[in-house]
Amino acid sequence: MQIECPHCTKPMVRWANPQQSTWGGDFQYVCFNDDCPYFVRGWAWMESHYNVAVSYRYRLDPTNGATGPLPVWSKNALKNSIILEEPPDA
Ligand SMILES: [Zn+2]
Repeated sequence: MQIECPHCTKPMVRWANPQQSTWGGDFQYVCFNDDCPYFVRGWAWMESHYNVAVSYRYRLDPTNGATGPLPVWSKNALKNSIILEEPPDA
């Protein structure tokens, strides 16, 4: 199944849920596109509202369809939990 980010239309990737999280499933879909407008404007929004250098990525929980922000503190934050897709069959 491929899910597109509604903000940048790039494919979202599966991201392993943290062990201690309260999210139900094993993974969620997250947009890790560094050019995603949702992610890009998050920096300025958080800076102006909370004076902190963080942003967030668009997140979709496939177990219940819930969406929301996944906070990140850098472009590479949380990327080590991305579940690499199997190579497509040629
Ligand atoms: Zn996106």
